[in-house]
Amino acid sequence: MTATLHAKDLRLTYGNAAVALSDVSIDVPQGGIVAVLGANGAGKTSLVRALTGQFGFYGGKLSGSIQFGDKTLSGLDPAAVARAGLVQVPEGRKLFAGLSVRENLLCGAAAQRGQKRAVLEERMDRIFKLFPKLKQMLGTSAGYLSGGEQQMVAIGRALMAEPKVLLCDELSLGLAPLVIAEIYATLAELNRDTALSLVVIEQNARQALKMATYAYVLEVGRIVAQGPAQELAQSAEVEQYYLGG
Ligand code: ATP
Repeated sequence: MTATLHAKDLRLTYGNAAVALSDVSIDVPQGGIVAVLGANGAGKTSLVRALTGQFGFYGGKLSGSIQFGDKTLSGLDPAAVARAGLVQVPEGRKLFAGLSVRENLLCGAAAQRGQKRAVLEERMDRIFKLFPKLKQMLGTSAGYLSGGEQQMVAIGRALMAEPKVLLCDELSLGLAPLVIAEIYATLAELNRDTALSLVVIEQNARQALKMATYAYVLEVGRIVAQGPAQELAQSAEVEQYYLGG
C-alpha cells in the first residue's frame, strides 16, 4: 500500500515549557486503519491538532513535516488541510448545541465554499444511509441528542467535508459499549466500501486494536511502541497498561 499520509519528526510545544509531542512520526496508508493509543495527557489530541493545522489556536508551535500524497500539509491553515482531505472528528464531539442536526452537518462542508445545494443534499443522503436515525432528527437541536446520536452527527459533519483520511479522536468517550461497537462497525464498513483511511485515536485500546491493522502507542508525547495491531494486542506491556491486564 502507498503511504498517503506521512508525518515525520513532529514536535509540538505549548508556550515555553510544555512539550506535547517529540519526534513523532506516523504513516497512514491509503485505505488503512491506524490506531494511536495513549493514556490521559499522552499527546493524542495534540497529534490531531498538529496534523490538522490547528495547533496555533491552542498556543502551540510545530516543527516537522506532514506530507499527504504529493501535497505538503505542514504550514497550511486548517481549512486548507480539510480541503486536502484530512478531517477530524474532535474529542468531545464539539457540536453547536443550539443548532439543528442539519445545520451542524452543513458546517462540515464550510471549508469548501460555494458547494451547490444538490451536492450537499447528496452528501447528507449518504450520511443517512450510514446513520439512518439522523434523518428523523434533522430539525432537532444537537444539544437534545443522546451522546451516541451526537457522535453520529459529529462523524456525519466530518464526512460532509469528503475526507480521504478521518482522524477520530476518542470516539468512545462517555458512550455505552453497544453504541461504541455500532459506531466503529459503521466506520469499518465505510473503510471497506470507500477506502477512506481511518486514524483511530483511543484510550479504549481493545476497540482500536481490534479494527486497526497498525498501531502506535504514545506516552508523554513520544511513540514508545508501534507495530501490527495484532502483535501489539499481544504485547505484555500494552496488555498491562492499556488492556487492563
Ligand atoms: P486526553 O486523553 O486527556 O485528552 P491527550 O492524550 O489528548 O489527553 P493532549 O491533550 O494532547 O493529551 O495533551 C498533551 C500535553 O500537552 C498535556 O501535558 C497537556 O497538559 C498539554 N497541553 C495540551 N494543550 C495545551 C495548551 N493549549 N497549552 C498548554 N499545554 C497544553
